[in-house]
Amino acid sequence: MATVIVDADVITMDRDTGATPVTRSIRIEGGVIAEIGDSVAIREGDTVIDGTDRLVTPGLVNAHTHSWETLYKGRYDNLPLELWMLYSYPILGIEPLPADVVRLRSLVFAMESLTSGVTTLVDDVLETPGQSAGQLAAVFGAYDEVGIRANVSGHVINVPFLDTLPFVTRWLPDEIVREVGGQSLLTADEYLAFSREAFASHDRTGGGRLRYMLAPSAPQRCTPDLLRGATELAVARDAECHIHVLETRTQAVTADLLHGTTFVEYLRDLDALSPNTTFAHGIWLTDSDIDIVAEHGVSVSHNPLSNMKLGSGLAPWRAYHDRGVTLGLGTDGCSSSDTPRILEVAKAAALVHKITDPDPDRWPRVEEVLTAATVGGARTARLGDTVGSLEVGKRADFLVYDLTTLAFTPRSRLDHQWVYSENGSSLEYVYVDGRRVVDHGQVTTVDQEAILREFRAMMPRIAEWQDAVDRANSVLHEPFTRMYREAVAYPLTAGR
Ligand SMILES: [Zn+2]
Repeated sequence: MATVIVDADVITMDRDTGATPVTRSIRIEGGVIAEIGDSVAIREGDTVIDGTDRLVTPGLVNAHTHSWETLYKGRYDNLPLELWMLYSYPILGIEPLPADVVRLRSLVFAMESLTSGVTTLVDDVLETPGQSAGQLAAVFGAYDEVGIRANVSGHVINVPFLDTLPFVTRWLPDEIVREVGGQSLLTADEYLAFSREAFASHDRTGGGRLRYMLAPSAPQRCTPDLLRGATELAVARDAECHIHVLETRTQAVTADLLHGTTFVEYLRDLDALSPNTTFAHGIWLTDSDIDIVAEHGVSVSHNPLSNMKLGSGLAPWRAYHDRGVTLGLGTDGCSSSDTPRILEVAKAAALVHKITDPDPDRWPRVEEVLTAATVGGARTARLGDTVGSLEVGKRADFLVYDLTTLAFTPRSRLDHQWVYSENGSSLEYVYVDGRRVVDHGQVTTVDQEAILREFRAMMPRIAEWQDAVDRANSVLHEPFTRMYREAVAYPLTAGR
């Protein structure tokens, strides 16, 4: 059975018309875009959608997020990353979440993503204190159930926590240093074996929508053999290798102190950069680091809302663009930006660089921002040939907006209004793989109300546990504040 949209305003994001709205009809059959043009075939039994007063766009791609943080939405404010991590990814007194909690968490996160037009998630699933195969299976199961497209990671940290940060041990009591230092960590071989299993069990499941992704946490949080091994395995499996690189100034200081180089130079020297590599954040890079990124075909997820909330800094958008680096947009997790709505990130990306550079020719253009929110994000996820634009042969992930809403009144420039005016009120339908998964704010694939009821019933117990864990970790707050202040005052030298 096919779906046909007749004479809609369409933003294709393809090479011909990009973000410029055009009038098109689209035929969707077998989960793919079968035809797109001035007119398309309509056959008996087709579901026909009248395109009058409707805007059709590609589905949005969230190029960097952590579904773990769904349980932490709205809990914290005014904490820089190194202090915020103590609460959102606690070190002390933490027990693994049961798989049924992981499933509910993932369902709720996917539902909020889909109902805001995000059809692809790059979900860097970071479980604390460490990820089990059962927890990973629960995420894949939930995303299969709800019908979203996703890259889902096995995330790994295999360097002792206190070795990943500068200055901190001198401020910590010995018993804490011993307790944190005694936590068990995977070897590179163990993580790669876990990943091979995950590829076998989960990769290209959900009708091909779901992919396993390698995610060595960060250059300072993984051993060299793991960084290299994860890159090799990602290339061999044509999978994404997702890594946090230079999110904060403290991390740039850490690279200086640990290696006397930048983390980008360090990764290059390890052979841990490839076109399968995506840097999350990529803020504190030098100019020559950006050349290295471009030379190795590494892509970057730009996450300005999270970076503003944690005071991390601002990625050099124009410098990446000038060198042809592929950019996606990410919300990051729901503790550091408190929403999976990628259009808010698009608006922030379009605006924030205008106040840091006086030259308007260098400001992000709406077309560039929409590219990052769609096909650019898809490319960072190794899905550039699959989704991200409306073209014949691509999987049919698309959005249908109602143009009679207040947000689209008056109708001036639909591409501008998609970024600057649309507030979530206009989205009528969301399709993934040609299947309608959202209808006027309701997810059609699962019982949204029942899942939300179950989630609400669970949360008081989870919040009690979070409060207790917060109290246990608050002993680290003062020493980490001292470390943070020392690090931000420390002069950066490597590569500068
Ligand atoms: Zn992150």
